[in-house]
This record gives sequence, structure tokens and C-alpha cells, in this order.
Amino acid sequence: MRGPDDLGRAAYRGRFAPSPTGPLHLGSLLAAVASYADARANRGIWLVRIEDIDRPREVPGAADLILRTLSAFGMHWDEGVVYQSRRTDAYRDALDTLKARGLTYPCGCSRAEVARAGRAGPEGPVYPGTCRSGLRLGRRARTERFRTPPGRLAFEDRIQGRQEQIVTDAVGDFVLRRADGLHAYQLAVVVDDAMQGITQVVRGADLLLSTPRQILLQHALGFGRPGYAHVPLVLDAHGRKLSKSLAAAPVDARDPLPALGAAWTLLGQTPPPADLQADAFWDWAIPMWRIACVPVQTSVACPTASSPRAPDPPGRTSTPE
Ligand SMILES: [Zn+2]
Repeated sequence: MRGPDDLGRAAYRGRFAPSPTGPLHLGSLLAAVASYADARANRGIWLVRIEDIDRPREVPGAADLILRTLSAFGMHWDEGVVYQSRRTDAYRDALDTLKARGLTYPCGCSRAEVARAGRAGPEGPVYPGTCRSGLRLGRRARTERFRTPPGRLAFEDRIQGRQEQIVTDAVGDFVLRRADGLHAYQLAVVVDDAMQGITQVVRGADLLLSTPRQILLQHALGFGRPGYAHVPLVLDAHGRKLSKSLAAAPVDARDPLPALGAAWTLLGQTPPPADLQADAFWDWAIPMWRIACVPVQTSVACPTASSPRAPDPPGRTSTPE
């Protein structure tokens, strides 16, 4: 396992990229805290990008609320906030580049047709390649798909270890432009990470299975590959992912320390001392950050996820000085 000093201090550029579908809750805070701590422990730049590309799912006011909460929690970003909703031209250019390289094709299949014809994969039906060699007669293009190359793709995750996926088996040719005209998340995130010069992606393990698709797109577009570290998801008492849209308890921006301590402890880090003040948290925490201590698992249980307030950090009251 590599230590924080091995990543190249001056070159480190990290980011937190929330979707504005609700206020920050403990699950999204975990990704924010891990990406911020890892960037700062490596003397790196830390950026925030609002992933509001999926406008149908966006909650008005949520982006501002997330930014205010990050500030209240002492996580300050180094450059202007990037909004995916204002980046449509860049996504279109990238799609045009892939098209010009013969790496995309129009698909006329509906979601229901793909579900009927495709094998079950880890993230839903695998596209069977119906339109790969041309639209069937009388069919109109609904989506634009990436021509996924064959072969096994491997990468080393700094937390989860070596990951492998054969994207043609797990996903098939995936959508780059959706039927509603919006660019797909996979394309947007790759274009934005390259534009922002991101060298280290630290995010939730719900995106672990997306990473091979993003690496394929980076390669196809001639972009460099950032490092990856996927932190565990926080599950509720029923074993479900805490989802912003499922009204998971928001963290309390007026009282940051309990939620910061809970996130920090769930990340496997040494619990903060009982007498730590909120405004001293990061001065204490950054030198203490050990990515090697983050649990090598894709989820952790949050015993108090149903509580209306952020929970007290486990062990905090019993920590010796
Ligand atoms: Zn098709």
C-alpha cells in the first residue's frame, strides 16, 4: 500500500463531485472527507464539481446547500466550482471526436428492448449489440453508444486493490448520449476530470464498476488516467445505500464535529480527541490521514442512519487523550 508521500505532492489534483439531488448526508460526506483529506495530506489542490447533468433528478437549491455545508465543515475548494450543466459544448465536442474516430454508433433500441434482449449484468441488462452494424430498417436513432473494445481491463484501486472487468461482458456498448438528448454521466465525468487536470479520484464505491468504462473513454479521447480510490458506501439499518433522494438524514452544518468525526471514524481513521474543537478538526486530521486504514470493503454499516441528526462519532467519548 502506498503512503501519502508517494503520489507526487505538487502534482496532486483531487475533487469532490456531488450530484445536487439533496443535502449532504453521512454517505456523501464520507466521499467529501476522504477526497479532501487525501488531497491536503498530499499538499494537493482540491476542487468541487457539481454533477448536475441529470437535470430531471436535480433538486432546486441543493447545489448551493451542498457548497454551504462544505464551507461550514471547513472544506474549502481551491478553484471555481464547475457545473456540468454549463459544460454541454465540451461533452458534444468529445462525442464528436469519438464519432469521427468511428468509436460510436447510433442505437434505435428502447430501454425495454434492451432489457428483453440483453443478458443480466452487474449493473442491469448487457447491451447485446443489436445496432452495432447499423440501425435496422425503419428505426430511428434514440441514443449514441460507445463501441466497447474487447479485452480485460485492470486497474489498481488505492483502497480496494486490483480491479478487473471485461467491459463487453459486464456492460456491453454503453450509452454516451441518452434518448432525452443529455450526455451520459460516463462521458461527462471523463471530460471534466481531464479539463480540471484531476490526478487522483477519491469517491464512493458505487462508482467502482463504472471506472473501467471511464478508463476506456479516457484512452479513446487521449486523456491521461488518474489514480483511483473508492471509499465504502454507508448503508442504512436495512443494508440499503444512503441515498440523498431517499431523504437520508442531512448532516448538520451548524454543528460539524459530530458528522465529521463519524465520517472520519467510518473511514477507519483514529477517532478525534474528545476535546477537539470544530475549527481545529482539519489541522488535527490532515496529518493523521492514512488511506491504508480505510476499510477494504465496498460498504460499511451506519447503525444510526435513521436518526434525524448526524450521529455522534463512535468511540469519541471513550477515546483516551
Ligand atoms: Zn440498439
